[in-house]
Amino acid sequence: MKEIIRRRIGLEFGAPPAKAGKQELRRRNTLLLLALLQSDGPSSQAELARRSALSPATVSGILQPLIESRILVEEGKSTAGLGRRASILAFNPRANITAGVSIDLEGVEVALVDLSGRVVDQTSAPYPRYTEPNEVVTLAAQCLATLEARNSLTRDSIAGVGVAIPGLINSSTGLVQVASNLGWMNVQLRDLFEQRFGVPVRVEHLGRAKARAEAIWGKGKHHRNFVCLEIGSGIGAGIVVHGRILRGSGGMGGEVGHMPVDPAGPVCACGCKGCWEVFCSGPAIRRNLAHKLAETANASAELGPLATLAELHAAYLQGDAVANAVVEEWAACFVRGLIGVIWNFDPEFILLTGPVVSQCPSLSEAAKRIIGGLKGNARSFDVPLILESHHAGTGVVAASATVATRYLEELASGGSHRETRLLAAQ
Ligand SMILES: [Zn+2]
Repeated sequence: MKEIIRRRIGLEFGAPPAKAGKQELRRRNTLLLLALLQSDGPSSQAELARRSALSPATVSGILQPLIESRILVEEGKSTAGLGRRASILAFNPRANITAGVSIDLEGVEVALVDLSGRVVDQTSAPYPRYTEPNEVVTLAAQCLATLEARNSLTRDSIAGVGVAIPGLINSSTGLVQVASNLGWMNVQLRDLFEQRFGVPVRVEHLGRAKARAEAIWGKGKHHRNFVCLEIGSGIGAGIVVHGRILRGSGGMGGEVGHMPVDPAGPVCACGCKGCWEVFCSGPAIRRNLAHKLAETANASAELGPLATLAELHAAYLQGDAVANAVVEEWAACFVRGLIGVIWNFDPEFILLTGPVVSQCPSLSEAAKRIIGGLKGNARSFDVPLILESHHAGTGVVAASATVATRYLEELASGGSHRETRLLAAQ
């Protein structure tokens, strides 16, 4: 357990506090060079020095230990210039591997993910709704053991495990305060996973995990201010401000689903009344649909009270009046919350993710129409609403992003990062 705690400290806080200016400077320069190699591709040391505006001696001093530990590998020789041809260096995403665990309503997915966000292998296990946390962790452990056996890996060669889960999550402590659709309350999920897995584990809200994955591997790659909204059993956000995920003082920053939008609204799982997600989550949409059908004496030819979001979308496209009312009401309320998000964080764009968006695209289309037509006195609200990346938007990749970035930060801090192990079979 001591070992887990020591490694967890590195995982959680990434860089140690800057004891000296020099050490901090080296950390930042290392992260800059790694970012350049990841975003722009392989490069010579001279070219990296030019692009980073660092001296060739500084670049060489930083890169040498990374080459020795195989984080960087030689990928041919430069053809430019005369004289001795310089080595072209490339970031080696296989230098280490992380595991991503995505917990959903009725199943857990586990994947091995390399440092570039590529899924090396994955598997999953189903379970009935409202399964106990202990049993879900056991199933996840079995999945990871299967993946390790298939890829000739030992547990010690996993740099860390990221767990993504929807709900009210304190990512600093790993506590799941409420995951209403799973039926979980006050579950110390990080401890459960670490006891079973024996490696450092980071539990993160699905929306924040997706924002991180989009920031390093997806549509947020070259942007410093954006919001990733996860709309499913609730609404949560990963908010990227000046290139960093907003976590707040208690690790719960981004729980925008609990913004009050109607003080007379129904009570939310958080205990307050009229939260945004009480009106705009997936279950809320289905409740509204059932209510409207009862009210209009089944005036819908297309829909029954147990209709899915995909069926709602199909009925909307057919011109069904009830479907139209449900979609337009949702969009009007959703935009009310979006305006709050836009005023607060002034994002370059908002990524829409989660089952509500993927299963019923007419909802986000309706929201786009409303927000595109809004004109305020002080600002335009026409912030692009875009859909998540095909790859970075998946739960397992998002889950692993949170540990992959910590691993690189720890590396840049010159901390006791783990020995790198290449995947022999790949
Ligand atoms: Zn609430």
